[in-house]
Amino acid sequence: MSKREQAGVTSTDLPVANTWDKQVSTVNTVIDLSDARTQRAIVIAADAGQWARCTTPDGHTVYGIPSSKPNVRYLVDEYNCSCPDQTFNPGRACKHVTAVRIHQALAAA
Ligand SMILES: [Zn+2]
Repeated sequence: MSKREQAGVTSTDLPVANTWDKQVSTVNTVIDLSDARTQRAIVIAADAGQWARCTTPDGHTVYGIPSSKPNVRYLVDEYNCSCPDQTFNPGRACKHVTAVRIHQALAAA
């Protein structure tokens, strides 16, 4: 299942939109340590203490992760990111999305 399918909310989905926590627990990421994007994601996840956090009433958390550009943060959750990489490669998790998944896996461990 692609990220877009997992994150998609159609009008018929709205009555069950508050089951996001169950969806989160089904996100799986294969960690390939030879992949440069994964390596950068691990470095970003190690700095999770610097992320801004915004939690919605239904418990979904969105993170503000600092860019390498000064004074820029990307809005990131386990499905989407506002960075250019995610914009140009919408079907593939960018390093920020992967970092969030790593962070959440560590928090749940
Ligand atoms: Zn990103």
